[in-house]
Amino acid sequence: KVRVRFAPSPTGPLHLGGVRTALYDYLFAKNQGGEFVLRIEDTDTARYVEGAEEYIEEALEWCGIIPDESPKKGGKFAPYRQSERRDIYDRYTEKILKTDYAYIAFDTPEELDAIRAEFEAKGDVFSYDNKTRNRLRNSIALSEEEVQQLLDEKTPYVVRFKMPIDRILNLEDIIRGTSAVNTNTLDDKVLVKNDGMPTYHFANIIDDHEMEISHVIRGEEWLPSLGLHKLLYEAMGWEAPQFAHLSLILKPEGKGKLSKRDGDKFGFPVFPLDFKDPATGIVSKGYRENGYLPDAFINMVALLGWSPADDKEILTLEDMCKEFDLHKVHKAGARFSKEKSEWFNHQYIQLKSNEELLQILKKSDLDLSAVSDEKLVKIIGLMKERATFPKDIYENGKFFFEAPVSYDEKAWNEETSAVLGEFGENLTATEFTSENLKQAIHDFAENKGLGMGKVMMPLRLSLVGELKGPDVPDIMELIGKEETISRINNAIN
Ligand code: GLU
Repeated sequence: KVRVRFAPSPTGPLHLGGVRTALYDYLFAKNQGGEFVLRIEDTDTARYVEGAEEYIEEALEWCGIIPDESPKKGGKFAPYRQSERRDIYDRYTEKILKTDYAYIAFDTPEELDAIRAEFEAKGDVFSYDNKTRNRLRNSIALSEEEVQQLLDEKTPYVVRFKMPIDRILNLEDIIRGTSAVNTNTLDDKVLVKNDGMPTYHFANIIDDHEMEISHVIRGEEWLPSLGLHKLLYEAMGWEAPQFAHLSLILKPEGKGKLSKRDGDKFGFPVFPLDFKDPATGIVSKGYRENGYLPDAFINMVALLGWSPADDKEILTLEDMCKEFDLHKVHKAGARFSKEKSEWFNHQYIQLKSNEELLQILKKSDLDLSAVSDEKLVKIIGLMKERATFPKDIYENGKFFFEAPVSYDEKAWNEETSAVLGEFGENLTATEFTSENLKQAIHDFAENKGLGMGKVMMPLRLSLVGELKGPDVPDIMELIGKEETISRINNAIN
């Protein structure tokens, strides 16, 4: 049974890379008919950020990435928050200490700092590993009696992994293939801190085992930990899941990891939702608040590192679940593009019905009260073609809601008023349908020996204030006879 987990630490908002990991986790699980689990890895209390867990859950929900099991939803492997799983970790701490893969270390932070300084003075780098562990204060270097005495005295200690000496580990990764690492390059990581809480490494493998996770899909920053994780499974006598490490999301210029600062600098969101840093009060921009549609956002994110067999670009979440293939995820980093984000949003606006867009606009804080829903639907139909964000429909179509207060001076010439005045006179008797109005403009122009443009342009100026917007007869029909005549009169007086 395929079971995949997304295991964020609540240390801040979910960034674009995190969303992509969660999405690929979800897509792979669904593609395989499996389950998708959300687990909150909150053992590091020093880095805990208030509200981050809620943010993560809300962001996933907005994206439509709905977990089958989670802290909120529960599930048969609950609890799904590591801070609530202490008794489970305690059991396994006891177990690993009985093996030859772990030991107790009593070194205080001050002692470790001192020895680090000693190394640095000689130009060496200190590492707690098989070369140094014998001269430090731990259960390998001390006698059994000494260890027992320290324990009896309630001396604080950590549990460390005892990295085997000179072993070649063959590490397999679904995306990257096989690589080899010598254990001599790895150190004795802390598994359990002196407060009894496990570190990320230990809690992570315990939970992946306990929760019957079959595939671990995560960011490439965890690749250097893979050797340790493989050995931890071996130490516990458990079968390891399969691993896939996703490459970075790169800056628009293609070099370096996309960061929060890129977003601030270039004015595009790199978070799914707005995030207010509780420490500084600074708000970072989110896709949701900046007018992106969740399906457009998720489509954009999915293609940062994966493309379906036929290179199709517009895919719903359902399409993606059907077509996703972990083996086809790219090894190279994916370059982020603000323009591409906007392109997707524009495409998805075209795919929405006018009624759907109406509902989206009504949920925003735009004041649409000047116009009936029935008319709004028509305005949306005329304006969506040029909209990147739903609010563009309103902002580029302001003239549907209120008469222009100024007119583009450059476009205005002597003829303008004359043409408007004369054309305006005939309007009272004209039936206001787009078809009819088009005919009326045409007839008027022909009569006067003018080109169509010579009539359209003044009309557009009087109705819109500028030379933009959809077809003039469509605008006239929508704002109606009374308003059209009033705008023409306003313009010439
Ligand atoms: N808690 C880790 C993180 O926030 C999870 C890494 C993993 O998926 O193993 O990145």
